[in-house]
Amino acid sequence: MDRFPTQNILSSLATARITPENEVPASQPKPLKRVVSGFALKELLAGKTQQTKRSDVSNSEYAKFVSQEVPRDEVSILNSVFSHLAYTFHKNPSNTEAMDAYNGIAFTIRDRLLKRLEDTDSHFISINAKRINYMSMEFLIGRTFDNAMLALGLRKEYSAVSNTLGFNLEDLIDEERDAALGNGGLGRLAACFVDSMACCNYNGWGYGLRYRYGMFQQQIINGYQVEAPDCWMDNPNPWEFPRPEISYKVKFYGNIAKTPSTSSGYTWENAVEYDVMAFDTPVPAFGTKNVGNIRLWSCKTNDLFDLNRFNAGDYPGATGNMVAADILTYVLYPNDNQNAGKELRLKQEYMFVSATIQDIIHRFKLTGKPWSEFHELVAIQLNDTHPTLGIAELQRILVDEEAMSWDAAWDIVTKSFAFTNHTILPEALEKWPVPMMGKILPRHLGIIFDINLFFLQHVEKSIPSEREFLSRISIIEESSPQQVRMAYLAIVGSHRVNGVAQIHSDIIKATIFSEFVKVFGSDKFVNVTNGVTTRRWVNQCNPGLSALITETVGDESWVDDYPKAHLLESRVNDEDFRKRWWDVKQANKLRLATYIKDTCGITVNHDALFDIQVKRIHEYKRQLMNILGVIHRYNTLKKMTPEQRQDQVHRVIIFAGKSASGYYIAKLIIKFINSVADVVNNDKDIGDVLKVVFIPDYCVSAAEVIVPASDISQHISTAGTEASGTSNMKFVMNGGLILGTVDGANVEIAEEVGDDQIFMFGVLAHEVDEFRFNLRYHPDPLDANLQAVYDTIKSGVFGNPDEFNPLVECSHGPGDNYLVSVDFASYLMAQDAVDALYKDRESWITKSILCGSRMGKFTSDRSITDYAENIWNIEPSAVDA
Ligand SMILES: *Cc1c(COP(=O)(O)O)cnc(C)c1O
Repeated sequence: MDRFPTQNILSSLATARITPENEVPASQPKPLKRVVSGFALKELLAGKTQQTKRSDVSNSEYAKFVSQEVPRDEVSILNSVFSHLAYTFHKNPSNTEAMDAYNGIAFTIRDRLLKRLEDTDSHFISINAKRINYMSMEFLIGRTFDNAMLALGLRKEYSAVSNTLGFNLEDLIDEERDAALGNGGLGRLAACFVDSMACCNYNGWGYGLRYRYGMFQQQIINGYQVEAPDCWMDNPNPWEFPRPEISYKVKFYGNIAKTPSTSSGYTWENAVEYDVMAFDTPVPAFGTKNVGNIRLWSCKTNDLFDLNRFNAGDYPGATGNMVAADILTYVLYPNDNQNAGKELRLKQEYMFVSATIQDIIHRFKLTGKPWSEFHELVAIQLNDTHPTLGIAELQRILVDEEAMSWDAAWDIVTKSFAFTNHTILPEALEKWPVPMMGKILPRHLGIIFDINLFFLQHVEKSIPSEREFLSRISIIEESSPQQVRMAYLAIVGSHRVNGVAQIHSDIIKATIFSEFVKVFGSDKFVNVTNGVTTRRWVNQCNPGLSALITETVGDESWVDDYPKAHLLESRVNDEDFRKRWWDVKQANKLRLATYIKDTCGITVNHDALFDIQVKRIHEYKRQLMNILGVIHRYNTLKKMTPEQRQDQVHRVIIFAGKSASGYYIAKLIIKFINSVADVVNNDKDIGDVLKVVFIPDYCVSAAEVIVPASDISQHISTAGTEASGTSNMKFVMNGGLILGTVDGANVEIAEEVGDDQIFMFGVLAHEVDEFRFNLRYHPDPLDANLQAVYDTIKSGVFGNPDEFNPLVECSHGPGDNYLVSVDFASYLMAQDAVDALYKDRESWITKSILCGSRMGKFTSDRSITDYAENIWNIEPSAVDA
């Protein structure tokens, strides 16, 4: 907070403190904290707390204080930065390092968000707005600094201020550590959605966990992925507000007792209790004063320190309980599209949902409305099945603690929850062993059994069904041990279920959830195609393109009204525009080439075609097919004369992505890519004609450099396996073309940009089963090109062929679950078509412009509006209005 306003509020509080009616001793900090916290203010505004005269005075002074905009001119900003450097960090300009400058500046940005934060809270409380609670175990936020400056419209001013301090703003931006509390697409989607909820003026919060170690840092050593902890909290985090006053008790273990005195007849006894505390990260929005919020939970550990044991010399014992609590939010499980199945993970999930549901109920109670209106004020979205226990938790609180009948409670639950499915991969579908859940969450297991019983009774009554049918749709899988099928619980407990692209929504209705369509009817199942925020993925990451769009549209309104980018199309034949479009791409490629030089030590020519595949490493995403294709290209080039080779389109093939730490084949694929890269990059015959690069530690800020620099990006999952994909959208918005399969959002991207603008190949989703069957029982002879690639591997040029043999085995024959050998020939043909088009630069530029201009559908603002209209039943409301 700025120096002078801070003094104002403190002095008015000091005056308030001496009024005789209010004899709170000055040494007690609590009331002060309550008065200035946004939370207390909300309670005051809602008329829910009895406050003394002291708060009336300070409250009106506070209202005056907060109604003043913090000055936005350069001189005032510079003074604010000095103030924070001096008062918050005890630094002066002569001993200010880049990190200090970043922190000092970041705090002044935060100050300038304060009014918006307060206005947003009081606005939505005053109109009793319905709130969206977006529950996600992952938020892949990335950096906040640049985004916040752009949202406030102060980037120019801050650039000047950093220069005055002796720093380049770009360098200060690099001081910020990514908040990498997610694995990949699912977590990044949650971050884009909170941004869009704020920008579209919805009352929406994200809820998640505050992992001490986020997604691991990936190092590449001798070609292998090595995982190092991501200590992202080592530096002060200016973007987060600790909320020690907002904490809840979360229980584990214990037993269930029959207690006729409670309405449900049960209580949960002898449980272990933890205090869980909130940390808020505000999400500033562009083009509106609404600010979103991500509330992350962490265990409170300090009061678990055992002083008696410490005094007795038992140091590990003294901290034992602290560590046990801390461990709960130590790490994000690094699994993408893979079920971890660990006891600690189940505890994380429950801790997350319990604190969140308690918080939602607490805030609901502040409105003073009856329970029957709960669903009119609260929407809860489950981002995949990870937060599904929330369904059982809300039901438990209503029947055990709020004395509600089962049916009344269940009505509230099912009207509030909605569920987003993200995958059909069997290894990713969450199941929990009944014995494990019974041990950790005995009451919830009982509730889930009851939910299942009533559900199956309902099914039996409404459709004449065989035992077989009932056991197929039962929430409890009758395996040994029994398992709780979390997706089924999520479907039964929600009023809407959605897939994340049209093809994916169609597939889940026809396959894994088809029996539920019979039970609940088709209307419960809807599609909401994913999207990405254009604030980060165009405006922030690609200033060159951004300037071209602004010039074309006439102002910056396209940033939150992205369909306006279609105006670019009107300039597709304008020579000057086309040249600038090309130059923007070249500049972005040069920026990436520099990044590659810095991170990998490899020199690449930015005039080459940049062919990029960056995403989690997974067999279904088929990075293996890509690198096998690279070997084919290498073989082909080797056979040519030097003159012929120089005539070929020069390519830089770029990979990046992390593998789950326990995923053997994915890690071997990383090593294999690096081994191939080593050979190709050092082959004198090849030179600049082909380079292969694996960029380490893929993360949001790396993506912001990589995405704007693609000529082609690859989205080549086996048809039917990639639910949507979102990086495909980011690349095309930035004028890159796609080489892809008929899968996920590729299908809708093709519809929007036109079939001529996309390179598509491969088998279709409905053919996959048959091809798998044939590979097993009626294999075709192996494609000659693929055989030649295997021969090269077996010759040992890339290192010990035995090491890579598992990759040979899983890319052909019965081991080829993802149909690499089936799609290989059509993949190479599509690659040839890419080369041919790149030689025809004018056609390439035309297609690139058409791509960039036709992506209006894929902004996450559209996704959020779809959710609001078809699932949440909620209206936007602008803070200023
Ligand atoms: C967008 C994004 C993803 C998702 O990529 P897909 O190719 O859609 O799987 C993963 N990681 C990061 C860092 C991203 O920005």
